[in-house]
Amino acid sequence: IVHMQQVNKHFGSLHVLKDIELSVEPGEVVVIIGASGSGKSTLIRCINGLEEFQSGHIEVDGNPLTPYGKSSKALQTIRTEVGMVFQQFNLFPHLSVRDNVTLAPIKVRGVSRQQASSTAQRLLERVGISDQADKYPSQLSGGQQQRVALARALAMEPRLMLFDEPTSALDPEMIGEVLDAMRELAREGMTMMIVTHEMGFAREVADRVIYIHSGQIVEQGPPAAVFDNPQHARTQSFLSRVL
Ligand code: ATP
Ligand code: MG
Repeated sequence: IVHMQQVNKHFGSLHVLKDIELSVEPGEVVVIIGASGSGKSTLIRCINGLEEFQSGHIEVDGNPLTPYGKSSKALQTIRTEVGMVFQQFNLFPHLSVRDNVTLAPIKVRGVSRQQASSTAQRLLERVGISDQADKYPSQLSGGQQQRVALARALAMEPRLMLFDEPTSALDPEMIGEVLDAMRELAREGMTMMIVTHEMGFAREVADRVIYIHSGQIVEQGPPAAVFDNPQHARTQSFLSRVL
């Protein structure tokens, strides 16, 4: 569902992604690990067009993104098909939980308010916060807000979900509830690309772990292989610091 070929990305003189070759199959759960500044966020932000890239080719569910791609038709399609959850929850503060979840389906997909509300209710139940629908984001805990963000993304019926350190801004006691919701989503077969420092979670849910160093994919494989038997010195040294 995702194909990246020879993708290069620069920020000015900084070469942030170097010849990235990456394909993700439908239903696959891919976890991306690597040190701070290695390019993890940039990589996944390129996939839904939040960042431009300078050379190479990216295709998402058959829609091609071009280098320096401005607002192409494909980009619009990709944005509606790819859900994203960020470290900061980015909820609309002036909207209730329910309205946060129903806004995009109503505005972008043209779903009726009634239909969107019943879908929202179902999704909020699924992430365990159906009793919070009438509250505002500021009245929720971080873990609850992140689960609203997840429900909001799912309301668009995405074909692919991107996560960029979804638990990094959370107090430790709230990390589990967000990971549980993600684990459930993975079990249901959602295609997911996840940047995280939660190595236990990665080991458990990932079909594939990708280690990035300095904008390059250095090593990838099933979690057992990458975590227990890393082949590259850089992977070994990274893991010895984080495990
Ligand atoms: P972290 O674990 O800290 O989130 P990361 O792996 O997600 O790191 P990126 O955010 O992708 O790293 O950044 C990769 C490199 O690109 C870093 O050197 C960063 O300073 C640089 N960078 C990121 N965004 C920009 C930007 N908007 N302008 C210029 N440089 C940027
Ligand atoms: Mg990042």
